[in-house]
Amino acid sequence: MLTGMQIAVIGGDARQLEIIRKLTELDARISLIGFEQLDHAFSGALKEKINEVNFSAMDAILLPVPGTNLEGQVETIFSNEKVYFTEELLLQTPEHCVIYSGISNPYLTGITTNAKRKLVQLFERDDVAIYNSIPTVEGTIMMAIQHTDFTLHGSRIAVLGLGRVGMSVARTFHALGAKVSVGARKTEHLARITEMGVDPFHLNDLEREVRDTDILINTIPYLIVTASVLSKMPAHSLVIDLASKPGGTDFRYAEKRGIKALLAPGLPGIVAPKTAGQILANVLSQLLQEEQSK
Ligand code: NAP
Repeated sequence: MLTGMQIAVIGGDARQLEIIRKLTELDARISLIGFEQLDHAFSGALKEKINEVNFSAMDAILLPVPGTNLEGQVETIFSNEKVYFTEELLLQTPEHCVIYSGISNPYLTGITTNAKRKLVQLFERDDVAIYNSIPTVEGTIMMAIQHTDFTLHGSRIAVLGLGRVGMSVARTFHALGAKVSVGARKTEHLARITEMGVDPFHLNDLEREVRDTDILINTIPYLIVTASVLSKMPAHSLVIDLASKPGGTDFRYAEKRGIKALLAPGLPGIVAPKTAGQILANVLSQLLQEEQSK
C-alpha cells in the first residue's frame, strides 16, 4: 500500500489514467496537474493548478513518458494550459522526492541533477522495455497491414537489431508466416537469431540483404538505413522505423527514391494506451512501495 504517500502527477495522456487508478487504489494521495478537462474523478486524487500545489510535501513526481520537452514544457492532453516543470519547482520538494518519467533529455537530466533529486527513467528498465515491446509489435503489424497491398504471410521482412523490440518483432512476424531475417552485429545475437528459427545476417551485409525485402523494420537508433541501403531496395518496399526520433532512416532519400518510409514513434500509447498504462502502473507501484519502505 502507498498510504500516506503524496504524489504529483503532472500531465500525460491516457496511459497516465491507468497509473492514477492504480495509485489511488493503493491509497496514495495524488495531486493532478494538467487534468482539468478530464471528466473522470478518482477518489483520493485532487485536480490542482501547478502554482497551487504544495511541492514541499511531495514524496514523488510522475511525469509523462516523454518527460518534458527541451524547454521544460510537459505534454498535457487533458488541459489547454501550458505546464512547465522547472528547477525552481524541484527545489521546493523535499530531498527524498523522486521524479519518474519514461525517458529523459538534457533539460530534464540537467534540472534534476542541479536540484540533486533522483530521476528514474522507466523505459531504461528491461522489464518495462520488454512488456512495452508487446503493444509496439501490435502497432507495427497494424502499420504493415495498412501500408501494403500484400499479406504479411509469405512476405520477406528484414528486422534490424535484436534488442528488446527487435526480438519481439522478429518472433511475431515469423509466427504470422512471414519470411523473416534479422540483422545484427554481435555474434551472440546472430546465434540467437538462428536459434529463433529466422535467418541471421550481419549488418555489414545489409545492402546485399535488402535487395528482395518487402518490409524493412528498423529498431536501431542510429542512421543505418542510409541512402546507399535504400538505393538497393525494391521500389515497392516499405520501411517502418521504430527507433526513437529521428529514427535510423534517411527519410529524405527514401522520399526521393519513392520508397514509403514511416517513422512510427509511440506505438504502445497509440494502439493500446490502457495496456501501456498498466505496464507503467505496475512497475511504478512496485518502485514507490520500495521507496516508501526505505
Ligand atoms: P535495445 O534493446 O537497446 O536494442 C537496440 C538494438 O540496436 C540492439 O540490438 C543494438 O545492438 C542495436 N544497435 C544500437 N546501436 C547500434 C549501432 N550503432 N549499430 C548497430 N546496431 C546498433 O532497444 P529496444 O528497447 O529494442 O528499442 C529499440 C528502439 O525502439 C529504441 O530507439 C526505442 O526508443 C524504440 N522504441 C520505439 C517504440 C515505438 O513505438 N516506435 C516502442 C518502444 C521502443 P548492440 O547490442 O549490438 O548494440
